[in-house]
Amino acid sequence: MTMKYRLYAPGPTPVPEEALTEMAKPILHHRTPAFEAVIEEVRDLLKWLYKTKEEVLLFSSSGSGAMEASLINCMSKGDKALVVDGGKFGERWWKIAKAYGLDYEVIKVEWGQAVDPSIIEAKLKEDDYRVVCVQASETSTGVSHPIKEIADIVKKHDQTLLLVDGITAVGVMDLPVDDWGIDVLVAGSQKAFSLPPGLAFASVSQKAWAFVEKSDIPKFYFNFVKERDSILKNTTAWTPAVSLIMGLRVVLRRMKEEGHEAMYERHHKMGLAVREAAKACGLELFAPEAPSSAITAIWGPDRENGGAIVKYLRDKLNMTIAGGQEHAKGKIFRIGHLGYYDAMDMITVWSAIEMALTDVGYDFERGKGVAKAIEILG
Ligand SMILES: *Cc1c(COP(=O)(O)O)cnc(C)c1O
Repeated sequence: MTMKYRLYAPGPTPVPEEALTEMAKPILHHRTPAFEAVIEEVRDLLKWLYKTKEEVLLFSSSGSGAMEASLINCMSKGDKALVVDGGKFGERWWKIAKAYGLDYEVIKVEWGQAVDPSIIEAKLKEDDYRVVCVQASETSTGVSHPIKEIADIVKKHDQTLLLVDGITAVGVMDLPVDDWGIDVLVAGSQKAFSLPPGLAFASVSQKAWAFVEKSDIPKFYFNFVKERDSILKNTTAWTPAVSLIMGLRVVLRRMKEEGHEAMYERHHKMGLAVREAAKACGLELFAPEAPSSAITAIWGPDRENGGAIVKYLRDKLNMTIAGGQEHAKGKIFRIGHLGYYDAMDMITVWSAIEMALTDVGYDFERGKGVAKAIEILG
């Protein structure tokens, strides 16, 4: 018998049944009052989630599409980007800038560490930057960068915008866009939204709109002004991923029902339980100092058997967790705990990790991690 599939990746993540059945319904045409009513509701719910009065733009793309869109809509020829690169996704910001021939400077952060905001402060004093780009949660390392502190710094520069990749942070941790002054906050459907891949989101501040309106970077599909003009009329510029938007309404209603605080507390506790379970088994965390509540990266035994853990779960248990990327490949394993997860999911995944640890011959007291997870979550 094929075993039940269990997905614990930092995206895509499991989708609740209510959203799956909603998305299986016959397709609505997107230029109809019925679909406009869906967009209207989704618009309000996105503003609620983002804690913003501004519009949150919708894109039918993966998260990277909205990252690209924010750079090419906020910048103009001759502008410079300041990019925090502390992992695979930080790297993506400057790779996009590079592809468009835009000028950029990189603040290299050691994998597993959070950026020191005073470095950003110093850079902004030295030179003119149109945008500062950073991840709220760097998924490749499990680090959470200090967004509030960075926002407080960028706020003092009226010619500089803060672009935050919140793809594994929106719905996981509090990022009050208007309060903190985040100019663009990007998210993607296949992470904490608990939808299939294919939708991306970006809020745009009043401060950012001034630069967006005069942006002269060539663009066609990813056009903020066109999307704003459309969403104000409860529609999208192009044919949207209709079924995903139907699902989006369901998951956003679920998020609202849970509420901001409970949602962040649930993620915080799941992250804490996984980290403490790892420590109880004598394992080392990859990002011990500034952990993200979305994902936990853990060194494999002897800092090398991370790949064997991932493989055991895949081959023996039909479970997916993530391995390491680039130089962390084969050395670490990463457990996603963002979106449609609860206490029992964490206890299950940790049980599987303990089975894998035994299989690779790691010497530890079996059950200790699970007991710790139960203590925190129970
Ligand atoms: C998943 C992820 C992305 C990339 O999103 P795609 O949907 O694969 O384009 C970007 N940034 C972070 C932090 C992510 O976790």
